[in-house]
Amino acid sequence: MKGKAAVFVKKGIPMEIVEYPLTPVGPGSILVKVNRANICGSDVHVWKGEFPWGGADQPRIIGHEMVGTVYELGAGVTTDSAGEPLKVGDRVTYLYFFPCGRCYACLHGQPQACPNTMARLGQTSTPPPHFIGAFAEYYYVQPGQYVYKVPDEIPDDMAAPANCALSQVLYGFHKTGINVGDTVVIQGAGGLGINAIAVAREMGAGNIIVIEQHPDRIKLAKAFGADHIIDINQNPTPRERISALRKLTKGRGADVVAELTGIPAVSREGIGMTRMGGKYLWIGNIRGGQNVEIDPSAVVLGNRTIVGVCTYEPWALSSALGFLRRNKDKYPFGNILSQPFKLEEINTAFELSAQGKVTRATIVM
Ligand SMILES: [Zn+2]
Ligand SMILES: [Zn+2]
Repeated sequence: MKGKAAVFVKKGIPMEIVEYPLTPVGPGSILVKVNRANICGSDVHVWKGEFPWGGADQPRIIGHEMVGTVYELGAGVTTDSAGEPLKVGDRVTYLYFFPCGRCYACLHGQPQACPNTMARLGQTSTPPPHFIGAFAEYYYVQPGQYVYKVPDEIPDDMAAPANCALSQVLYGFHKTGINVGDTVVIQGAGGLGINAIAVAREMGAGNIIVIEQHPDRIKLAKAFGADHIIDINQNPTPRERISALRKLTKGRGADVVAELTGIPAVSREGIGMTRMGGKYLWIGNIRGGQNVEIDPSAVVLGNRTIVGVCTYEPWALSSALGFLRRNKDKYPFGNILSQPFKLEEINTAFELSAQGKVTRATIVM
C-alpha cells in the first residue's frame, strides 16, 4: 500500500507529488486518511522561505490544517482525547503541534508556550512513517498527540479549519477575554479574521469592526455579521482608519483589538485603536526578524495590555468542535474555503494564496 504526498524542499522549487509506502501503525498511533487540508497563512510563509516551522530545507510534507478519517488504529487506541470511543471510519482532527509535557512551560500549565512544541514540524518525510504533514493522502497521528472525533453534523469543509484558524482565535480571545457588549476590532478578514468574527460574537461582542481591503473578504465579513467595515481603500492611511474607528466608539477605541493579518506595520495602528485599559491581541505576526516602531508610553500611560498567542491548549480544539456543532447554521462557515484544488494542483493553490486571491485554499484528497 502506498499514498501520495506533495513534497516540499525549499522556496522556489515546485512541490513534487511522490508516493510513499504505508508503514505498520505502531502502538498508540493512528493512521488517518486525509479528507481535506487547507493552506494556512503560515504555510504560505514556509513556501516563501520566510518561516521554517523548525525545519531546514529538506524533503518534507508541509501543511497542518486538516481533517481526516481513521484508517487504522494502533494497539491501545480505543478513544479520542475526550474519552469518546474511536473506531475505523470515524472522522478526526488533531493538534498539529506537540507540547512535550516535561519542560518548564508545560509543567507550569502553559503547553502553548512549550519551546519544543514545533520541533516535529518541518522534519523530513524521507524516513518512515513519512506522512507527518497535511498535504498528503495519509497522516500519521503519533503516540500522545491530541486527537478529537469530529461530530457527524459537521461537514469536512467546516471541520478542516478547526485545528488551526478556529482554535487559534478561540484561544486568543480566551486569553484577552471578551465581555458582553464589548467592541472588538478585527484587523484582517482572512481565515483567522473570519472565524474571529463568529467567535467574538458568540463570546458576547456587541460591536464588531473589521479592517480589510479585499472586496471578497469584506463581503464575507459582512455575511458573518460584522457590524462595521473600515475599508482600507476608502481609508488608506492609519490615521484615517484610527479616526474612523474612534468615530464608531464614542472616541474611546475598542475593548479588544485582534491583529490577524501577519503584517507587522499594523501593530502601531492596532495600539491606536485599543481603548485605554483595553487589550491588543497579537496572533498573525509569526515571521521573525521584522521590526516596527511603537511608542511604549501608549501602552504604559494607557494601561493597555498586549497579549501574544501562538498555538493553544488542547481543550481549545474540543471547544472549537462544539462551537461548530452549535453554530454551523448560524454563520456561513461553508463559504470560507475556496473552490477545492486537487493534490496535483497544490503549486497553483499556493500561488493564488500568496497573491491573496483566495481566502483559504483547500486541497481535497
Ligand atoms: Zn495554521
Ligand atoms: Zn514542553
